Amino acid sequence: MFLLRKPILALSGSSAVRGAVSSAPLTRSVVDRFIPGETTADAVAAVSTLRAKGLQVTLDHLGEDTADRATADANVQAYLDVIAGLSTAGQVAGSEVSVKLSAVGQALIAAPDLPGGGNAYALSGACRIADAAYAAGARMTLDIEDHTTIDQTLEVLFDLRRTHPDVGVAIQAMLLRTPNDLAELTGPGSRVRLVKGAYDEPADVAFTDPDQIDLAYVRAMKLLMYGKGYPMIGSHDPRMVAIADKIASDASRSPDRWEHQMLFGIRPDEQERLVSAGKTVRVYVPYGADWYGYFTRRLAERPANLLFFLRSLATRG
Ligand SMILES: Cc1cc2nc3c(=O)[nH]c(=O)nc-3n(C[C@H](O)[C@H](O)[C@H](O)COP(=O)(O)OP(=O)(O)OC[C@H]3O[C@@H](n4cnc5c(N)ncnc54)[C@H](O)[C@@H]3O)c2cc1C
Repeated sequence: MFLLRKPILALSGSSAVRGAVSSAPLTRSVVDRFIPGETTADAVAAVSTLRAKGLQVTLDHLGEDTADRATADANVQAYLDVIAGLSTAGQVAGSEVSVKLSAVGQALIAAPDLPGGGNAYALSGACRIADAAYAAGARMTLDIEDHTTIDQTLEVLFDLRRTHPDVGVAIQAMLLRTPNDLAELTGPGSRVRLVKGAYDEPADVAFTDPDQIDLAYVRAMKLLMYGKGYPMIGSHDPRMVAIADKIASDASRSPDRWEHQMLFGIRPDEQERLVSAGKTVRVYVPYGADWYGYFTRRLAERPANLLFFLRSLATRG
């Protein structure tokens, strides 16, 4: 079933398939399992429900590969709105926002009136979000996208950290470059979310065998747990969850010095079990109308998610 990952990820780029899937009447009910809603109010309501259970949150306003400045600006504004919404609801302190730089303009092409190109545009949008988040008592982490964007994303990260040293970043264990990147990212206070990696990467830049990815994940966990930063272990894999607990204990890390992270709707019982066991758990809450790319990555990652989707189309369509 791992073999299906590549074709599904390839389909995520097809606009014909995007149209067909997005307009299928039953897609919505399946999407709801992974995404609590489209509006700021939906996101804030989901945060209130999760925090009442002792879970922490990081909010992702869905969007990626933005091709024009108006959409990039609207995505920045959506983050400012949700930060304000969290403040009004008394839910902002300790909450986090997760930002994809491609949503706020990283992919824009340099032009005479855009001399710095997309990365400069994304930096200025991300800066506005970080200013609002930290002024309100929240924090921010940069998501990480496909391998071609990583140098630019780390450049933006280090720029942002000049004014907001707490800004975090996701790092993908599957990439061969990751141990080098971690050497620069395990300093005091550095927040790093370790994930396996959700993109279809070529074998010259990434491990493609699942066992090798798991081994790389464990090696990276050790670097983070024995480093001086704040590790955020983003995985639903029961083995990685157990190994994280063991390494944290060996490294004498108390639950306030690292955290588990999982996606909204994936293993919710396990999220609550970990909270009951005294662990810090943060749930990544994606919301918004542009859910297609996120949704197809979730289908690609787990056979049961794909079967669940196909079964619901077959039985109710
Ligand atoms: C908080 C968070 C943020 C992320 N941010 C990024 C990012 O910025 N960039 C990026 O590339 N990727 C990101 N990812 C996705 C990540 O890279 C992986 O694609 C995704 O987490 C799947 O890998 P996994 O470690 O959870 O387990 P997998 O290797 O997918 O699965 C291993 C095992 O976990 C269990 N499992 C997995 N899913 C389920 C489920 N639905 N129900 C029950 N058991 C399940 C099963 O036992 C499965 O065999 C993020 C993931 C998380 C949790």
